[in-house]
Amino acid sequence: MRIIYWFELIIAHLIYWSGAYWLRRRRLEQEGASAVLVYHRVREGRGGVGRMVGEHNFEAQMAYVAEHCRPVEWDGLVNADGEGIQVLVTFDDGYRDFFTRALPVLERRNIPVVLFAATELVFNQRLIEDTDEADDEVFPTADDLEKAKQSSVVSVGNHTATHRFFSGLSIKECDDELARSQAAIQQHLGLRPKVFAYPRGRKQDLRDDAAAVFKKHSIQAAFTMIPGLVDTDTQAYAIPRVGMSHVNNEVLFKVKLLGMLNGLVNLKNRLKR
Ligand SMILES: [Zn+2]
Repeated sequence: MRIIYWFELIIAHLIYWSGAYWLRRRRLEQEGASAVLVYHRVREGRGGVGRMVGEHNFEAQMAYVAEHCRPVEWDGLVNADGEGIQVLVTFDDGYRDFFTRALPVLERRNIPVVLFAATELVFNQRLIEDTDEADDEVFPTADDLEKAKQSSVVSVGNHTATHRFFSGLSIKECDDELARSQAAIQQHLGLRPKVFAYPRGRKQDLRDDAAAVFKKHSIQAAFTMIPGLVDTDTQAYAIPRVGMSHVNNEVLFKVKLLGMLNGLVNLKNRLKR
């Protein structure tokens, strides 16, 4: 996938220096827009491997969000009422480095974040199939969980129990995944999530019959990995997000934040299949 990353970088720089970036940025800032960023892991130093952003890059990205955008909570997303670009930061899975590397940065900047927890990983120390690399930064400790519980910037969302993709399950199994994970979060953190993120979250992982299951478990919004910005046409159970997990370059970050390069993401997903 390295070649595609380089390709992405080149296209991003062309867009940035061509002026297309600035035109779009000015238009979105005037009209109002909402972007949901998704991260997975934060690595020490520079990052650059798989779905990991380097901690210094993450820090710079959050500085940009705090200074040039409007950080919002998930329920503020749809009201892009005023001017400027609203940003919701989300983290998927719940690896330990979220608690140790991302959370201090988010707290310092007072940026709200939704942590979509795969409960078998977060509470039962079981690896999920998506894990790129197993190291001592994988499983959160009881202390980490307590910190998140006390934090004023963290909301917890549901990301299933075992991280199996909805496309490979019966609707009964989807229901079981939600029941188990809602119960685990309730037990460990004393709250009931109202938001959900589909594991993998590509178009084929969404399903119409899941809406009834979401309602049953009081889930009001479901986030995907389909690239794009949130607008008035966005469906509550199919919210697009901008993938920032592997983004270790400032220009690429800025260009993607405006919802550009979506075609490339779709191409990458097709090649990975
Ligand atoms: Zn995930």
